[in-house]
This record gives sequence, C-alpha cells and structure tokens, in this order.
Amino acid sequence: MAVVNSVLGPLETSDLGFTLTHEHITTGSAGFRFTYPELSNRQRVQQVAVDILTQARKEGVDTIVDCTPMDLDRDVTLIQAVSKASGINIICATGSHLYVPHDFYQTMFEWMDPIPADTVADLWVREIEVGIEETGIRAGIIKVATNDPIRPPEELMLRAAARTHLRTGVLITTHTPHTSRVGLDQIRILREEGVDMSKVYIGHVNSTLDHDYHKRMMDQGVWLGMDHFSPSGPPTTPDWRARTAFIRDLIDDGYEDRIMLSHDWNVKGVASGDPVASMGEGMPDGYLWITRGVLPYMRELGVSDGAVNKLMIHNPRNFFEETGR
Ligand SMILES: [Zn+2]
Repeated sequence: MAVVNSVLGPLETSDLGFTLTHEHITTGSAGFRFTYPELSNRQRVQQVAVDILTQARKEGVDTIVDCTPMDLDRDVTLIQAVSKASGINIICATGSHLYVPHDFYQTMFEWMDPIPADTVADLWVREIEVGIEETGIRAGIIKVATNDPIRPPEELMLRAAARTHLRTGVLITTHTPHTSRVGLDQIRILREEGVDMSKVYIGHVNSTLDHDYHKRMMDQGVWLGMDHFSPSGPPTTPDWRARTAFIRDLIDDGYEDRIMLSHDWNVKGVASGDPVASMGEGMPDGYLWITRGVLPYMRELGVSDGAVNKLMIHNPRNFFEETGR
C-alpha cells in the first residue's frame, strides 16, 4: 500500500475506490479569478460543484484526480472545500498545461535563455512536499501537456516533470491532443530523463482508435487514460460507442490491467460567469456519464464486471501504488 497526497491530506491507496483519473473542478485562465472575479463567479461555482459532486458520491464515485495546474487557473482552496463538503477524495496537480508561462520559456524573444528544467522542478517539488500557494495543500500528481509535434517549451516542461518525479516519487499524467500519436514521443523524452514507465499515465488517448499505437505504449509499461468521454464529443472524433468498443477489444487482447477511464469534464470551464454553462447540453450527466452511460454499454458489449472493476477501481489503485517507489 502507498499513500498519496489528497487535498484533505494523506490518503491510502486502499481508500481510493471508484476513481475518475482525469477531471477538473474548474478551469480557466491563470489569474482571472483575482483580476476579473465577476467572470469567475467563484461562490456559485463552488456551490454548484458541491451539489454535483455530492450526487456523484451518492452514485458511487469515490475519488477524482483533478489535473488542473496553475496555468489552467488551479484553485486549490476551492477544490479542498468541494472535497470536504461532498465527501469525494480529490487529488490535485502540480505541473503545467499547454500555457507554459513566458517566464519559463520565452517564445517571443529567442535570445532569452529558457529557465533550467531543474529550476522548474524545484518549484513543483515544493508544491508536492510543502504545499501550494502557502495553503499546505500538497499536489499528488504531476501534470504535463504537449501539442503534436512537441514544442520546445513543452519539452522543457516534460523534462521538469520527469525531474520532479525522480525527486519525489509522485506520478506523471499527460495531456495529448485529439487523434494524435504523440504519446510515443512523450514516452521517449521521459525515458531519456530516466523515468520508469510504470510511473507514467499517457492521457486522452481514446480519440485515436489505433490498436498498434496503444499496444506500443502499453508494451513499454505506461498506463493509458481513456479519459475523454462525453455523449456528443468533438464532432471530428470517434463517438463514445466506438471508443467503448475499442476498449472492449483491448480488454479481449489482454490489456485490461493498464487502462483507466475518465471524462475530462469540469463544472466551470469558460469565463461565462455561469458555472452550469460549461455543462452545456452535451454533458448533462457530468462526472456520472461513465457510470450512467459508458459502463452499462460496455457490459452490453460483453465486458465482465471483473474487468469493469479493474478499469474503475483496481487499475487506479495499482497506478497510485507506484507513488514513492
Ligand atoms: Zn484535462
């Protein structure tokens, strides 16, 4: 058994339960909630988030991994309050999304040197070992994101993530763009840094329905996040039924021990001032779409309860048990 940082303190992996491995409570532009509070509507967002997560808890969701780093306007005290009020465990993230701060890597002024990866790692290690923004809330996962192909500032963030992991034992979770195969390049760079692939979760891979791509990644030891699920989904990508059937095929091929599911949803993802606006008509079930829609369909396709439990309970636990080794 291992212990991971949750926003309410240390959490034993045996207590993770049914886990959604890539979600957000809120996302936004860094600093908006301080500069334009009228656009963040923080109090109402918090209340709506508590209501939604309380319902999710009732329907069996035990833990959410919130993959929001600072450049997506991570709000750790809101996340903590929502966790406390709803009873859902939440693990929050250090690291970066696609909006790599200019102070880390100047793309406008090429004559300026990027900040060293080790210096970025110092900052992220602090968020894991001491806490985020002097709240004492510690990050339990390292998030990193790239486009395809990987841009230089994103490579710097990948290397910083690797070094943060090597110093703390905290695991790495990645963002890959729709329909890309860039997970293999992310793996290559993390390998160059000496990261053991059992410590790595390559995310958002389920809009690329290519068995060869997924098997090549899993055969190197990484975990895969089939973590984009919605009833409508981006129009140019496979629909949720195709995504679900694809997972069934991978399970049939013996890969059921390496796959996890999530939505990548959030209560507030746009600066509309209205938290429910980001639910849209396309996602009425929010964090419960997998429970209510995807898993029943997966069972219809012949996937056993045992395999479903692996995806939703055992694999997240086994993944987080890699923490700290
Ligand atoms: Zn996300």
